[in-house]
Amino acid sequence: MRRLLVLGAGTAGTMVANKLRRRLDRDEWDITVVEQRDRHYYQPGFLFIPFGAAPATAFRPTGSLLRSGITLRRGEIDRVLPAESEVLLAGGERLPYDQLVIATGVEPRPDQTPGMLDPDRWRRNVFDFYTYEGAVALSHALRRFPGGRLVVHVTDLPIKCPVAPLEFAFLADAWLRERGMRDRVELVYATPLAGAFTKPVAARHLGAMLDERKIALEPDFLVERVEEHRLVSYDDREIAYDLLVTVPLNMGAEYVARSGLGDELNLVPVDRHTLLSTAWSNIFALGDANDLPTSKAGSVAHFSVEVFVDNFLQHVRGEPMTGRFDGHANCFVESGAGRGLLIDFNYETEPLPGSYPLPGVGPFRLLKESPVNHWGKLAFRWLYWNVLLPGRPVPLPAQMSMAGKHPEE
Ligand SMILES: Cc1cc2nc3c(=O)[nH]c(=O)nc-3n(C[C@H](O)[C@H](O)[C@H](O)COP(=O)(O)OP(=O)(O)OC[C@H]3O[C@@H](n4cnc5c(N)ncnc54)[C@H](O)[C@@H]3O)c2cc1C
Repeated sequence: MRRLLVLGAGTAGTMVANKLRRRLDRDEWDITVVEQRDRHYYQPGFLFIPFGAAPATAFRPTGSLLRSGITLRRGEIDRVLPAESEVLLAGGERLPYDQLVIATGVEPRPDQTPGMLDPDRWRRNVFDFYTYEGAVALSHALRRFPGGRLVVHVTDLPIKCPVAPLEFAFLADAWLRERGMRDRVELVYATPLAGAFTKPVAARHLGAMLDERKIALEPDFLVERVEEHRLVSYDDREIAYDLLVTVPLNMGAEYVARSGLGDELNLVPVDRHTLLSTAWSNIFALGDANDLPTSKAGSVAHFSVEVFVDNFLQHVRGEPMTGRFDGHANCFVESGAGRGLLIDFNYETEPLPGSYPLPGVGPFRLLKESPVNHWGKLAFRWLYWNVLLPGRPVPLPAQMSMAGKHPEE
């Protein structure tokens, strides 16, 4: 029996295990998934919890999402021993593998910024919404917030879903307006980037949306430490806050570093087209856990898994992998008041205006606010649980298409 070991039962790990269980002969391949949590979180749902969404809609039991014929091993990964093709669990158990898929994602690390985790501040007037617990705590804090300076802040990149902090700022603006509180709140968006987003065309569109909403942009702000009611940057700029909503540094799992498999952020270096480790020929890293130069997003996990599955079957037959992942990402950007926009891009092409997936028809508008985009974002939750995670086919090409896109001057 050959052994495929998948580390992590998040978005990428669950999808890949379910897809490969359909494709790999059950008499030939054992598939085991290692996961530390009982709950699988739908992380895009965290964005809505602070504004009143029911927290229970953001998770399901991990075991219920894996097909029969897949073994779920509950436990914490201590390290990978690549030279021995074994994984060591925290309890001391060793799991041998023939092929290993690392899909343990990234997690927010507030401990990496001095002062952020200070018990007088953390989850008192400094919050994150990148964890379930953080999003729930923030929902209570927002309800108590009397007004003042609300700063939405990104510590450093890469982060998963790089548009999520912008979405938070747009939703906060709309939520405060609904409550008749907007004139009592100064909204600030502080980012280490030179503009609202990484790519120039999207940065222009999203920056204009911040302006329209009178959300002050603080660009090029690299935080050095968090103090009582102020952020201090490496170049000694200060930003005062009454309520800070921060995205802490995102890092891969610590076991990746202990295994000698990661870079300085514990991300696994991989070939950008095949997701094969640059160091080991029987280790792949999928989803947020790798160092691909594209967004860390569920959509990237999905499109790359589509390419990976056929490649993997070739790889284990000893054939060259012919599929090439192009960095395709698409993300709905919730902009408040029942509207949203969509961005679609890859390694080579930045987000451009136009329509998706059908040229001229859409129904989704690229880089343009519309109610249909908002409904698309909400419908995505259903698609996630019922189509993507079970590994069912999605009638959308994994490769990005230029059809329907309008390059700007
Ligand atoms: C607020 C927010 C909003 C988002 N919105 C969007 C969106 O609109 N669209 C989009 O495409 N993406 C969005 N994302 C990003 C998306 O959720 C992630 O990119 C996606 O979940 C990555 O999948 P993954 O499998 O790589 O990692 P994850 O889904 O994070 O899974 C990693 C798994 O590994 C497990 N694990 C980690 N370390 C260990 C260990 N040592 N031992 C055992 N198990 C371990 C974890 O428990 C976890 O279950 C959002 C993310 C956040 C936080």
